[in-house]
Amino acid sequence: AKTAGRNTLRFFDPDMQQAVTARAALESDLRQALAQDEFLLHWQPQVDSQGEMLGVEALLRWKHPQRGMVSPAVFIPLAEETGTILPLGRWVLETACAQIAAWAARPETAGLTVAVNVSVLQFRHPDFVDQVLAELDKAGANPRRLKLELTESLLVSDMEETVTKMAALKRRGVCFSLDDFGTGYSSLYYLKRLPLDQLKIDQSFVRDLLSDPNDAAIVRTIVALAQSLGLHVIAEGVENESQQQFLAEHGCHAYQGYLFSRPLAAEQLQAFLEARTHA
Ligand code: C2E
Ligand code: CA
Ligand code: CA
Ligand code: CA
Repeated sequence: AKTAGRNTLRFFDPDMQQAVTARAALESDLRQALAQDEFLLHWQPQVDSQGEMLGVEALLRWKHPQRGMVSPAVFIPLAEETGTILPLGRWVLETACAQIAAWAARPETAGLTVAVNVSVLQFRHPDFVDQVLAELDKAGANPRRLKLELTESLLVSDMEETVTKMAALKRRGVCFSLDDFGTGYSSLYYLKRLPLDQLKIDQSFVRDLLSDPNDAAIVRTIVALAQSLGLHVIAEGVENESQQQFLAEHGCHAYQGYLFSRPLAAEQLQAFLEARTHA
């Protein structure tokens, strides 16, 4: 690298080369990670105004043998590009359905919902509906306890297909939340046509709710919109009581965020539940 003069075009930037190599290594590790049992789910509670548990969101974690925990913000996009998201997404569904079935055994936990993030590639797959139903059946899980979190970009690419798939799952009781709401391309037209149950206010609007009047206005508008369309609404990224109070005052009564709990490993979730529900 020393030989490259100041004005020389460097085709082999060592930093870039390193980044490309690291990415390729991560990509090939990702292909094997599922077989090697390196994935796990963390569960983040969703609660109501009284602090009562409504359910959890399943959040994927990758425990890499050398690198430690790799963030989903890093590996989900890679998994999407390489197609690994298909078996991985299926594993998440399988694990979520097993959790629903396990909770069904006790009255204190039987009503809890499990929210699962669905990627574009996964949703677009021709077998998506059958796969979800197969995992519910296999676990003996009540479909009403499964909530699928979809993003706006996922919904708009083929309206007909989207509506058909959602309707098929809804007929069986599965419900749908529109994740990161307000950050994508949603139009009122989509909101009207899609069989949604819930809007999830993106954390970027919640963060500065109390200092940024635009964010406050957006949040109020989303809540009002949800109400007039007959949809539930939940806020994510709720970190302090003033945010929660603002949300509650403006009609949002379901929350997720560090104020209530970080995403929890299975054993931690059990302890959290015992404290909350006397389960
Ligand atoms: P997301 O679906 O928007 O999930 C919410 C993210 O916000 C999670 O990050 C969560 O840990 C974080 N979070 C929760 N409460 C707070 C809070 O109070 N403050 C702040 N600052 N952050 C909070 P995480 O777990 O790193 O996941 C990142 C993204 O990765 C998720 O964003 C989702 O898009 C994706 N993801 C995670 N698991 C899966 C999965 O199983 N399948 C797919 N397709 N995507 C997943
Ligand atoms: Ca989500
Ligand atoms: Ca989100
Ligand atoms: Ca997000």
